[in-house]
Amino acid sequence: MSYAVEIEHLYFSYPDGTQVLKDLSVAISEDDSVGLIGPNGAGKTTLLLHLNGILRGEGKIKVFSREICDETLARVRRDVGLVFQDPDTQLFMPTVFDDVAFGPLNMGLPQDEIGRRVHRTLGAVDMEASAERPSHHLSFGEKKRVSVATVLAMAPRLLVLDEPTSNLDPGHRQQLMEILRGVSMTKLIASHDLEMIRVLTRQVILLSGGRIVAYGPTREILSDHQLLKSNGFFLLS
Ligand code: ADP
Repeated sequence: MSYAVEIEHLYFSYPDGTQVLKDLSVAISEDDSVGLIGPNGAGKTTLLLHLNGILRGEGKIKVFSREICDETLARVRRDVGLVFQDPDTQLFMPTVFDDVAFGPLNMGLPQDEIGRRVHRTLGAVDMEASAERPSHHLSFGEKKRVSVATVLAMAPRLLVLDEPTSNLDPGHRQQLMEILRGVSMTKLIASHDLEMIRVLTRQVILLSGGRIVAYGPTREILSDHQLLKSNGFFLLS
């Protein structure tokens, strides 16, 4: 079996001494779609930030069989596209077009290929008509879609999303879910939105206190109400 992610014995502490990830080992198969759930503070964002080397802990992480180290970091960042929770972190150029072109430009792609990628990905997130608008004039939902486009334009092999539906109204949430449903690469999605996780993922990792508490088929994990309740989820039924 080919793996998109293989993590062995990962430990990570922030400089203030807070130990967040504790002997974490996990593998994600290529072409799978995996949800990452867990209470606030479980370490979900911290874990995601390790997958393209923004954070470096102790232990071994491989993406697409390549161990993350100084020598492989540039290649790893092409393979792993990370969509941050706050779209303002991802959008900083004068226009939507420039924001989406930024990644492909840095990859050294020819101008015509950059143009094609920008139009294709803006089309995919239904933002093509806004290409010349300043990104900071967009609504939150529009920014969120453009931030996904900035990552899709680099055609990563693994798409990592941190709380993609948080703070979206129901219409924008539905629209984003449709976009993500149409994306074919390996996906890892951290979220509290269990309905989105149910619709978009085949496997779920439950993280709590920096450790993996459960990892299994989405249907099984989401129907284990006892497990979810004991890990901070409030369920109506
Ligand atoms: P989650 O995404 O599951 O809510 P995080 O990875 O954001 O969890 O945070 C895990 C823990 O790490 C929390 O206790 C949080 O307060 C702490 N933490 C997050 N970022 C920092 C930081 N930059 N410095 C110190 N502690 C941090």
